Amino acid sequence: MAVLEKKSSEQLIELENKYGAHNYHPLPVVLSRGEGVYVWDAEGKKYYDFLSAYSAVNQGHCHPKIVEAMTNQAQTLTLTSRAFYNDKLGEYEKFVTEYFGFDKILPMNTGAEAVETALKICRKWAYEKKGIPENEAQIIVCENNFHGRTTTIISFSNDPVARQNFGPYTSGFIKIEYDNIDALEQALSSSKNIAGFLVEPIQGEAGVYVPSENYLAKAKELCEKHGVLFIADEVQTGIARTGRLLATCGDCSCEDKNCSKEPDVKPDVLILGKALSGGAYPVSAVLADDPIMEVIRPGNHGSTFGGNPVAAAVAMAALEVIKDEKLAENAYVLGELFRSEMNKYIEKSSIVTLVRGKGLLNAIVINDDEDSDTAWNICVALKDNGLLAKPTHGNIIRFAPPLVMNKEQLLECVDIITKTLQEFE
Ligand SMILES: *Cc1c(COP(=O)(O)O)cnc(C)c1O
Repeated sequence: MAVLEKKSSEQLIELENKYGAHNYHPLPVVLSRGEGVYVWDAEGKKYYDFLSAYSAVNQGHCHPKIVEAMTNQAQTLTLTSRAFYNDKLGEYEKFVTEYFGFDKILPMNTGAEAVETALKICRKWAYEKKGIPENEAQIIVCENNFHGRTTTIISFSNDPVARQNFGPYTSGFIKIEYDNIDALEQALSSSKNIAGFLVEPIQGEAGVYVPSENYLAKAKELCEKHGVLFIADEVQTGIARTGRLLATCGDCSCEDKNCSKEPDVKPDVLILGKALSGGAYPVSAVLADDPIMEVIRPGNHGSTFGGNPVAAAVAMAALEVIKDEKLAENAYVLGELFRSEMNKYIEKSSIVTLVRGKGLLNAIVINDDEDSDTAWNICVALKDNGLLAKPTHGNIIRFAPPLVMNKEQLLECVDIITKTLQEFE
């Protein structure tokens, strides 16, 4: 039998370069193990993970409870397709709808699929319930949105790299400025054929843009007034990341005391993904109440893997961890601490202009051009100093550690970050 030689990081990067499509530009680090807030590279060097797989690993790497649920289910039954019932799906559907306070869930796998599902539900609702003439429905979206990578979703992106040469594009979308309530009101009044408003409660990929206070509540109110569905894409902001169970809380069953500090905004359609599985498995979902979800009938929509028993078992465990370990509250407290520590540094800094965010979804803005490589170089230096983060643009670095972090670890991370930034002053 051939003895497998352990490959170096350099060799492993070479393999990806040679055999994989170049659709990403990763930081030059090869990870081979993870536990809680830490990951280790192929040579055994330990790092703090400050990206959490774009907020998919909120519960920490390889959470034992999630891994146990996954392995148990994987040894029992993995996939039946929805041609048959399975004994985990119904249980999960009851659990997740009660957890977030909606009548129904439509289970999918990836975030983009869930966004597509929400758009389809919204259009069908518009024709069958609102009476919009066939093929005339319009959905309002925001500038600088990120909702995934499918052909329809990139049709309403304004990132040229994500769009160019992927046309022809799907029509039926109106783009307005984010965090501009007048622009929303104007768009809603512009036509009788508006079906929905799709929005990220905080724009993550765009650079962690937090809208002004009450923007979401006012937007919801306007949507209600115009009979338009308010669709929240909480794929990145959901599941405790921003210091609450959801960034748009609504009447979820969450007992988090910080929720009451913000207005209640219950989306008509809620889109979840990423941390819904704690990063163990692709699990996404669309939640809505019966008057909306009932437009979906057998044959209208589906997915071979959506709602499979492993996904159901994993998601239940992942959501239990959020409540058992009070991760929303922890994200709230550590987020406040992180921003206040960073602000102390920023006062004396010429390289960082500001820190913004909510809970443990934060970003710093670097004092350089959007197309500079300063943020990239800082991330490489952070890596050398034992902390992994990724720029979202040439001058923005997002900081989103797993929510299972403790105060001592967070302060150690602030130390690594500020010492690294010092090298660039
Ligand atoms: C990541 C993300 C998506 C897409 O999720 P995938 O699982 O990568 O398809 C959609 N919306 C938002 C807000 C996201 O952050």
